[in-house]
Amino acid sequence: MPEHRNTVLMIEDNPIHARLIHNLLKETGDDVYELITAVTLAEGLRRIEQDRIDIILLDLVLPDSQELDTFIRVRTAATQLPIIILTGLDDVSIAAKAVEAGAQDYLIKNEIKGPHLTRAMHYAIERVRATRGEWDSPMFRLAQQQFLKAAQIMDLDENIRERLLFPQRTHVITLPFRRDEYNVVETVFGYRVQHLLTMGPTKGGIRYHEDVNLGEVSALAMWMTWKCSLMNLPFGGAKGGVRIDPTGLSRSELQRLTRRYTSEIIDVIGPDKDIPAPDMGTDEQVMAWIMDTYSQQIGHTVPGVVTGKPVVLGGSLGRKEATGRGLVYLISAAARHIGMPLQGATAVVQGFGNVGSNTARFLEEEGVRLVAVSDVTTGIYNPNGLSYAELVDYAQKNRFLKGFPGGEAVTNKELLELPCDILAPAALQNQITAENADRIKCRILAEGANGPTNLEADEILNRKNIFILPDILGNAGGVTVSYFEWVQDIQNFMWTLKEINERLHGILLDAFQRTVARAETMHTDMRTAALIEGINRVTEAKLLRGIFP
Ligand code: GLU
Repeated sequence: MPEHRNTVLMIEDNPIHARLIHNLLKETGDDVYELITAVTLAEGLRRIEQDRIDIILLDLVLPDSQELDTFIRVRTAATQLPIIILTGLDDVSIAAKAVEAGAQDYLIKNEIKGPHLTRAMHYAIERVRATRGEWDSPMFRLAQQQFLKAAQIMDLDENIRERLLFPQRTHVITLPFRRDEYNVVETVFGYRVQHLLTMGPTKGGIRYHEDVNLGEVSALAMWMTWKCSLMNLPFGGAKGGVRIDPTGLSRSELQRLTRRYTSEIIDVIGPDKDIPAPDMGTDEQVMAWIMDTYSQQIGHTVPGVVTGKPVVLGGSLGRKEATGRGLVYLISAAARHIGMPLQGATAVVQGFGNVGSNTARFLEEEGVRLVAVSDVTTGIYNPNGLSYAELVDYAQKNRFLKGFPGGEAVTNKELLELPCDILAPAALQNQITAENADRIKCRILAEGANGPTNLEADEILNRKNIFILPDILGNAGGVTVSYFEWVQDIQNFMWTLKEINERLHGILLDAFQRTVARAETMHTDMRTAALIEGINRVTEAKLLRGIFP
């Protein structure tokens, strides 16, 4: 799980100004930016070619180049990168010309303060991202490629194929929210994407993460369609998100952000239209605020507008742990299928959020030895076994796993390659690629995260005979209990935890068996088989409904 750091290239020949910027970045205490420096244009251009730069701070008056010419030469070398001009007071008009010619911003050197600098850089990066083709993300490409592969194998109707390749509705918004420091207002990008409206209301989580973009949210919405369809739920897929790192927000900031985001999408959500739920970076409390904001606007309490709420507000028993619980039900089924006893088997779990920690918990309850777990700060490895209770206790006291004394620290990358029977990536996307797939040593790969494995890696893992529980099957326990929650809310009737877990088990097992059977009859892998199961039901519904007008 790489933490995202932006590399800043500063091209500045004046050592006093260079020092100033350096100190300001350091003072901010912000480890989000890494600074590299060049003192001539030639050196700067070399750096642009050699390094992976995210943003350029540019002085226009350099020993080997002057004024607008400096900007034009840097712009030509780095067509896609955000550039902020560093200017003296007397050169402001040239800096303004550079902005007209395509620089993102300028800063007057003697007036820059730390927060001002990092905000200017953050917004310059945002602006370039926003204008650079929002669909174009690796995750959206992956979702489309997986779909096209399945479409080809199942010989999908060409008209249907084109119709399903992009989401039906995408909502891109920008929204402001006030920081606790009253005068500071942040503008952030938000999304709600509805991939398929054919099956009933749309359904899917809301993600708060600094990498969220239209392509990512659209990929996730498409996967929700296949997931709901594979589970036979009466929903099409949706997903939402806000591009922000929620760990840097106070509780009141998070609340203001959530309420404003909700009010921006209020026309497109509702218990009969589109029902959000938690995803990465959001939780029960965020769902409570969404439900409250929506209900305030409608004039009465509408619990069915979101799922994954606290139980006291109409949430369902068992929803919080449903994804982890469901994944372990499926791991048991997969282990039986390949003839591997769970008792004494070993497991590695990547991620210790809601999905990862519950997966670890239920695996331990099944007698599996947990040899490694991780969170954003570290991985922890102990071949003799880790105690779930001790891990939770440590994470509650220290917020993160870093420093946990019961095992050896490993990186997230190393963790994935540890020898084990069950590997459960339950954190970010794009973790298993052509680069590391050959070194993955598990017997069952149980995907708790969405999109953790890319297509090239899939091929390698299948060749190695690793049994894959693909994400749209593996993590479907969450949306399945979300469906139970929605049904209970609409009927004002609550089920017991026993009823919920039994129904969850029944639905997941049925989907597992259908997927295994389809993989066998069609001689294909589990992911493609699961996709075909999902796409088939959607296709049938689409053909029966026909086209309006
Ligand atoms: N965000 C979860 C997922 O990716 C749950 C969605 C839901 O419960 O609607 O499946």
